[in-house]
Amino acid sequence: MNIQAIREQFPILNQEINGHPLVYLDSAATSQKPRSVLDAMKRYYELDNANVHRGVHTLGSRATDAYEGAREKVAKLLNAASTDEIIFTRGTTTALNLVASSYARSACSEGDEIVITPMEHHSNLIPWQQVAKATGATLKYIPLQPDGTISIADVEATITPRTKVVSVMYVSNVLGVINPIREITQIAHRNGAVMVVDGAQSTPHMKVDVRDLDCDFYALSGHKMCGPTGIGALYGKKSLLSKMEPIEFGGEMIDHVDLYESTWKDLPWRFEGGTPIIAGAVGLGAAIDFLQEVGLDEIDQHEKRLAEYAYTRLSQLEGLTAYGPAHNRVGLVTFNLEDVHPHDVATVLDSKGIAVRAGHHCCQPLMRWLNVSATARASFYLYNDEADVDRLVEGLLQTREFFGHAIG
Ligand code: PMP
Repeated sequence: MNIQAIREQFPILNQEINGHPLVYLDSAATSQKPRSVLDAMKRYYELDNANVHRGVHTLGSRATDAYEGAREKVAKLLNAASTDEIIFTRGTTTALNLVASSYARSACSEGDEIVITPMEHHSNLIPWQQVAKATGATLKYIPLQPDGTISIADVEATITPRTKVVSVMYVSNVLGVINPIREITQIAHRNGAVMVVDGAQSTPHMKVDVRDLDCDFYALSGHKMCGPTGIGALYGKKSLLSKMEPIEFGGEMIDHVDLYESTWKDLPWRFEGGTPIIAGAVGLGAAIDFLQEVGLDEIDQHEKRLAEYAYTRLSQLEGLTAYGPAHNRVGLVTFNLEDVHPHDVATVLDSKGIAVRAGHHCCQPLMRWLNVSATARASFYLYNDEADVDRLVEGLLQTREFFGHAIG
């Protein structure tokens, strides 16, 4: 991978922040967008914009082709069996809420179990809390090992024949761990439960094959994978989706409407009420093309190398605690610098042009498990390289020095 050539395709990266060249290390929150994505969306609005599925006119059919073409790209990216299994959503949060509200609320009742982990993002935790409250089901947690990984023995011990839903993130946005989704899915299925995967942090960084994983649902966000905000997708097995009720009703999703009764369109449109996110889907399609052109295996390897380098260099800094396992991690490092609040770390780094995130990363239960209230996080993507990690290390040394002097 030629990182310099890749970086040049991201106009936003070519700027100075506070007098220093920007080092963007917050891609786990949202990635930057390459010119091809920006151009595709601009072209769509300049040449093809119309509403979809209804227009007899040329622009209407161009917009429909663009929108449905993007669905095909998502289906291929995930190796779904058909485009019927891809529902466009606003992002991972909306996709997971769709499964929780439509599938789980009718599948769960008193005495049933929903199994998740303490490392989940709030988006894969609160919807299940709400289902548990509404149905009387019990929410159970697979415990974490001291390094933040999941052991299969614990998965076996937590999932039981009373479990109806298991929902786990593929990749942690805090610990950087890659969870054993295939194995967890097998255990869920053996117990008659469906497997839901939060793919917000996996899809941007590695090849994903939903049929190989055999998961039942898989959620993703376009904005974390070089696409625009406001678009994401839910993959669901057709056998399950076809039995689920829509949760949003109105235009676009109907077949026949009478004064007192209505019927729904086929999959996947019955879950897409209202005018869809057409330009967003076009942007997501262009992002998928871009990622596939670079190569998801190459991106994966590049980030794993970078993560090892960053984790090793950061761990060597005196007073720095890096969280999560040392190996088999994705391109992010979450850390704390002794005695310095992560917000102060992020502020000093920003003054050097380095963008990192500080806070609870939408994982408050995980923060409590780590015994901290917040952390700083540097997250990498295909446009980052070792020089960015070196700038981060240099910035952290300056931060420590600054606060060391300040504290006296
Ligand atoms: N799950 C994980 C693991 C995430 O990192 C995020 C985004 N931070 C989400 C879910 C939610 O994604 P979105 O805000 O795009 O819906």
